[in-house]
Parts: sequence; C-alpha cells; structure tokens
Amino acid sequence: MISFVGAGPGNVDLITVKGRRLLEEADVIIYAGSLVSKEHLEFCKEGAKLYDSASMTLEEVIEVMEISIRDNLKVVRLHTGDPTIYGAIREQMDLLNSKGIGYEVIPGVSSFTAACASIKREFTLPDVSQTVILTRIEGRTPVPKEEDLESLAKHKASMAIFLSVQEIGRVVEKLVKGYGRDDIPVAVVYKATWEDEDILFGTLSNIEEKVKEKNINKMAQILVGNFIEGEYERSKLYDPSFTHKFRSASQ
Ligand code: SAH
Repeated sequence: MISFVGAGPGNVDLITVKGRRLLEEADVIIYAGSLVSKEHLEFCKEGAKLYDSASMTLEEVIEVMEISIRDNLKVVRLHTGDPTIYGAIREQMDLLNSKGIGYEVIPGVSSFTAACASIKREFTLPDVSQTVILTRIEGRTPVPKEEDLESLAKHKASMAIFLSVQEIGRVVEKLVKGYGRDDIPVAVVYKATWEDEDILFGTLSNIEEKVKEKNINKMAQILVGNFIEGEYERSKLYDPSFTHKFRSASQ
C-alpha cells in the first residue's frame, strides 16, 4: 500500500495519529526534504529506506513506489502540511492509477491553519468574513487570471497566501488595488510551529518593509483581512437568546 501522508506544518507532534502510525510501520519513506522536518524520520523503523524527493523527478518517485509495491513493501509519501494543498499529489496519483497501483491519502494540519493558530485569531468572524481564500501569487507556476490577487481581494474575505512572501512587494500592490485602501491588517507567519517561528504584524502599508527588514523570503504564510484586527459581532451559536438543536433559550 502507498500512503500519502500530511506531515503537518513543522512541529513533529502536529502529524495525525494515523500518519505517525503509518510512518512507524513504513518500509520505504519518500519525504519532501525541503519542507518536512527531519525529526519525523526518527519515528521510522530501523532499516527503513529513506528518499528525499527534493532531488528526484516525478518519474523517479513513481519508480521507487512501483518497485516497493512489487516487493510488497509499505510506502509512505510524506508531504508537508496537508497533501491536498500545493502538494503536487494529483500527478503522482494519476500515474499510479495508470499503473493500477492503489493508494490512500491521509490529511494533515495545513500551514494556513497553523499560522492562524500561532497568531491566535479566527478566520471566520460573523460580520467580518465567513469565507477563507487560499491562494498564491503567480510566479514560475501560473495562476488562472480570474484568480488574480487583485480580484480576489475585492471580496474582502479572509486570506491565506502561500508561496508568495518572496514577492511581498507585488502581493501588497495587488491587494491595495483590490481593497482600494492600504490600512488592511496583515500578519506574516514565518515557519509556523517550528522552533524559529517568527510573526510580523502590520498593514498593507508597512508589511513589505517589515518582511524585508527580517529578510523573510520563504516558508511564510501571508494572512490578510479584518479578522486580524478590529471589531466583530459575537457568534450566534453561544448567544444566550439564540436557540438551536442542542440548547434551548435560557430563562
Ligand atoms: N501542503 C502545504 C503547503 C505546501 S506549499 C500546507 O498544507 O501547508 C509550501 C508553502 O506553504 C510555503 O511557501 C509557505 O507559504 C507555506 N508553508 C509551509 N509550511 C509553513 C510553515 N510552517 N509556516 C508558514 N508557512 C508555511
């Protein structure tokens, strides 16, 4: 069996119980070395074969999987965060499909929720935003033009921007155009849940300067929106005058 496993955002305890168990039992582990904490590998059994996918092509990864399955070995493909977000797992799954090889996908804690937990906020506040946009700026990998940051910003939804901190200037420029103002709160979370995590708070008007001062150019979440600072309405769910299936009105 091949298991695609989400390793979580960094801290080694933020993998799921299921993911950890699969890691302990695996004969072969192919991990994304540039982003997955090496500490996870300490849970692998002795003699397990480890491959860092950073230096491998898609075909090489699939070949390791194919040979391992032929030898009846258990394979874990360890991805950072949650494998279904910017994980490039679809192309692996499609090749496995074409070869008739079975697999499963185990979710993980994505860096966008880890970053929001680190700043101790909630993306969804009743009258502020009930929507979270996960996106990135285009770089070497294109983004469909309908999803340009400027048009997404027009929704004023809470945003978590991946893979973009190295382009903070362009990110800010597009967001300011979309929002039509530059006083929107922003938090940049570098290496959420790692030992060297760093958090910067600011607004669209000054966050670029702060990011550049700290030389942050990789592994950061850019969180944007009024959920970070400002007023909000209390949740109806816990409002004493609001009844629902599990609680009748007080008094
Ligand atoms: N599947 C991963 C995302 C992989 S893309 C997930 O669910 O989190 C890699 C991008 O994720 C990085 O460029 C960065 O924007 C973000 N990222 C990954 N780990 C992070 C962390 N610990 N803190 C902040 N951002 C992180």
